[in-house]
Amino acid sequence: MKWSKRHKKTFGKKTRETDATQGSFRYPPKPDSYYTKIEGQCRWCGKMIMNEDGTINSRRNWHEDCSEEYMFYYHSGATRQKVYERDLGKCNYCGDITTRWELDHINPLSEQKNVPRDKMDWSYWSMENLQTLCYKCHKKKSGKEISEKFKLKREDKKKVNWKKIKGLFE
Ligand SMILES: [Zn+2]
Ligand SMILES: [Zn+2]
Repeated sequence: MKWSKRHKKTFGKKTRETDATQGSFRYPPKPDSYYTKIEGQCRWCGKMIMNEDGTINSRRNWHEDCSEEYMFYYHSGATRQKVYERDLGKCNYCGDITTRWELDHINPLSEQKNVPRDKMDWSYWSMENLQTLCYKCHKKKSGKEISEKFKLKREDKKKVNWKKIKGLFE
C-alpha cells in the first residue's frame, strides 16, 4: 500500500474532533489509536510495531495489513477497488457489466445515522453489505428507499389516532 504525503502528515496531529469523517454516518468510528501520538504504535490495531529483533519500530505507525484495512473503510477508491475485484463491474440486479458501475450499500448507511459511536454496526461497511449496481438499478433502489422512508413516516402518524383514543374514554 502506497501512502500519499497527506497521510504521513496526519500522524499525531488529528483529533476525533477535527476529523471530518467522524460524526458522519458515512464512515465507521475510528479507533482511539488512530489519533495516537506514540511513535511505533499502529494507528489501526493499537499494538506496537515490532522490528524482527523484538525492539519497537518507532518510524512506523501502520502494520501493512492494518493500513489496507483502514484504506478499505475510509477511502472510497480502495473500497471500490476491492468491490471491483469481486464483482468485476457486474450489476447485482440486472447483470449488466458497465464501467460506470456504482457502489451500493445493501442496508443503507443512513440507518446508522444518529447511532452513538460505540453502538455503530460495522457490518454496514463490510464487503457483505456492498454490492455493484449499474446506474439505472442504483437510481431505482435509491428512489425506493426514499419512498419507503416516507411511507414509514406516514404510518407512524397513522398509529396515533387521537379521535379513537378520545373515544375510548367517552
Ligand atoms: Zn496494526
Ligand atoms: Zn442493473
